[in-house]
Amino acid sequence: MMTNQRYEPIDSGVTPRFAGHSTFMRLPVVSDPRQLDIAIVGVPWDGGTTNRPGPRHGPRQVREMSSLIRRVHSVTKISPYELCRVADFGDAPANPIDLDRSLESIRAFFAQIVEARAIPLAIGGDHLSSLPILRAVGDKRPVGMIHFDAHSDTVDTYFGGLKYTHGTPFRRAIEEGLLDPKRVVQIGIRGSTYSAGERDWPLQQGIRIISIEEFEDLGIDAVIHEARRVVGEAPAYVSFDIDALDPAYAPGTGTPEIAGLTSREVIRMLRGLRNLNLVGADVVEVSPPFDPSGATALAAANIAFELLCLLAEAVAKRKN
Ligand code: MN
Ligand code: MN
Repeated sequence: MMTNQRYEPIDSGVTPRFAGHSTFMRLPVVSDPRQLDIAIVGVPWDGGTTNRPGPRHGPRQVREMSSLIRRVHSVTKISPYELCRVADFGDAPANPIDLDRSLESIRAFFAQIVEARAIPLAIGGDHLSSLPILRAVGDKRPVGMIHFDAHSDTVDTYFGGLKYTHGTPFRRAIEEGLLDPKRVVQIGIRGSTYSAGERDWPLQQGIRIISIEEFEDLGIDAVIHEARRVVGEAPAYVSFDIDALDPAYAPGTGTPEIAGLTSREVIRMLRGLRNLNLVGADVVEVSPPFDPSGATALAAANIAFELLCLLAEAVAKRKN
């Protein structure tokens, strides 16, 4: 039965924030997607990682650090829990050994959310996790995407022709018609590449790449404006690779690149994305084994809350 029951984080005035079960934002676990508008989902899987592993441990650590997040947004004063029904939907099933089976089991897990007309907020997991999520979210029509990352993730193959790694998800998503490349913007791209022409293919597809150098030249407000122009008003997804942040702010990730975005720049950009037609989001590549202080997972938890507020506003707008 469909209900309009709202879910709230555990009251921190009753149960202190260090106590109780660890869930995203201290929300209850709800396993029926029909009871939700937004499902927060862990993807404990790093089967696509080509170098330093560990994001399979990301969801637990982000759940832990999300206990520091309070219920009301500091600037907008929004409480996403009042706008719509949101809960911890648990973890997508993944097999640490079998990549093909994991791609399918993760897709199916997200498909049940989409079929129930809820939208996902995923916590990875490496960036290959975004591909099966997009296979669910972009199943009916290609979506746009605002992609924060140091890397374009549009390489063709790795290690002798392997097509599914965390460096290839958006090449596959475009080939499969899940993403409209002309409505994709990548922000924060930087670092050395495997070849001089590595960004030729995404540029030929029409992806708007805003490198960190161009970010510096344009300034943050112009970048927000450009991102909004590129995705327009049609359905769009937000994918946030934590390595978009400088390793000073997010050291706990597999492929860090120096000279990246600051936490303040990231938060300001996310707050510039209100009133878009968002249909899902993810935060990926948090690798707890490289994150002994927990700072990276804390950044991810805060980014997830900003995304949750954006998604909640989008849901509320569609309902009205
Ligand atoms: Mn990535
Ligand atoms: Mn990256």
